[in-house]
This record gives sequence, C-alpha cells and structure tokens, in this order.
Amino acid sequence: MAEEEVILEATGLTKEFKGFVAVKNVDLRVRRHTIHALIGPNGAGKTTCFNLLTHFLSPTSGRIHFNGRDITGSSPAAIARMGLVRSFQISAVFPHLSVRENVRVALQRKLRNSFYFWRSERVLDRLDERALELVEAVGLTPFAELPAVELPYGRKRALEIATTLALDPEMMLLDEPMAGLGQEDIQRIASLIRTVSRNRTVLMVEHNMSVVADLSNAITVLARGEVLAEGPYETVSKNPLVVEAYVGT
Ligand code: ADP
Repeated sequence: MAEEEVILEATGLTKEFKGFVAVKNVDLRVRRHTIHALIGPNGAGKTTCFNLLTHFLSPTSGRIHFNGRDITGSSPAAIARMGLVRSFQISAVFPHLSVRENVRVALQRKLRNSFYFWRSERVLDRLDERALELVEAVGLTPFAELPAVELPYGRKRALEIATTLALDPEMMLLDEPMAGLGQEDIQRIASLIRTVSRNRTVLMVEHNMSVVADLSNAITVLARGEVLAEGPYETVSKNPLVVEAYVGT
C-alpha cells in the first residue's frame, strides 16, 4: 500500500482500563476515499478504538497518524479541525431548531474557527444557501423547515450526516449509522454514505453485515481487543476465526 494512499494509520494501539486491556496492539490502515468497516462482536473494542482515534480517550500506548501527521496527543477539537470528524461529535442536534437551522449552526461552528468569520459579511450571507445545499445533498429538502425533533428517526441520521459534512471533513467516523433503522432508511443512508465516500474517507462501526458487505472496500475485524482478520468482505467473511468469533458470542 503506497504511503500516500493511507489517510489514517494506527500502530500498536493499546488501551488498558485498570489492568483490563480493551484494545491490544491494534494496527489499522485506512486507505483514502474508501469505506472501511470496523466490525466484531460486542465488547470487541470497536467503540474504544473510535474513542482513541479521535482522542476522546488517550491510548495507553501506540501512535496514530492522520495524513502523515502524528495526532496521538492532539485534542478531539484539533483532530476535527485537521479533518477527522466523528459523526456524533457535533450531532447533538438542537431539537427545536429546523433542519436547515441545525445545518447552519454546524456551518457557523466551522466558520468560527476561520479568519473569514470576522471579515466577510458575504460569507455569512452564503451560510443559508450552503445550508440548503447540504440539506438537499442528504435528501432532507422536504423537511428543511421542520424542527429537528419532529423528524422521523431515520431522517435524523441523515441530519447528523449533514451536520458532520458541514465541517467539511476529509474523513468521517460513523458509529453504527444503521442502528435502529428500517430497511428503507438503511437503503437511503447507505446510498448517502456511498456518495459521501466519493471524495472523502469513511470509517464505520456497523453491525448490519449486509450493509458491511454492500458498502465496505475493506474490513478490520476485532475480537477481545485484537485484530482477528482484515481484508475485503469476501475473504474476511469466510475466515474461520471470524465465523467462530461471531458464533461464540
Ligand atoms: P465494542 O464497541 O466492540 O462493543 P467496547 O470498546 O465498548 O466494545 O468495549 C471493549 C471492552 O472494554 C468491554 O469489555 C468493555 O466492558 C470495556 N470497557 C470499555 N470502556 C471501559 C471503561 N471506561 N472502563 C472499563 N472498561 C471499559
């Protein structure tokens, strides 16, 4: 794998909680503009890995590089500014603001960090326009003026993705994007993730295996905190260790 193809790389990632090793010496390489799935039975260490990659938790040992830069000690906010954004990080959706206003607030947050926010009236004028573009991109135009609280559950996921996209991340971490969704919403969100991945990278934890099979270019399987297997779905799903890990839970 050529170095420039790798956008996110974790080496020897380890997290101990009072003597219990939740993530053990994990190596993870995610290629640019791919959809990479992190799977494994409950308790495998997937959420802990996400927390480590975005520095919601500090690793006990190991290094993390994003775009060739060592981000191991960087704060979650700094990591987000560098372009690695976790969906729930800003998906604290404001229930009484409309869909459009929620996206606008997310765009404002991005701008607040930028020099332009204080300089250009025109940038502020553009916010509503850009918010509506994003609302449309995630298929929420008919719901644009609806308070977020009134959105059907599956559409809230689309709003979370829109508010994440507002930060213009190079790479998105999605934590179980299909959890609790019906088949129709799953199809809709899957196609949205596919579209998003055309010019961004996606790392997702997902339990729905048909979604993983359908969407992912590469899979890393964790079990008991360790990497059990990695590769494309066709090989990983036939790996006897993987089959056993799932059957054994
Ligand atoms: P997954 O997301 O794959 O279900 P987690 O990363 O949530 O797995 O958890 C991995 C293991 O680490 C589990 O055994 C869990 O109980 C343990 N764990 C997670 N967070 C903590 C914590 N803050 N303190 C102690 N143990 C934890």
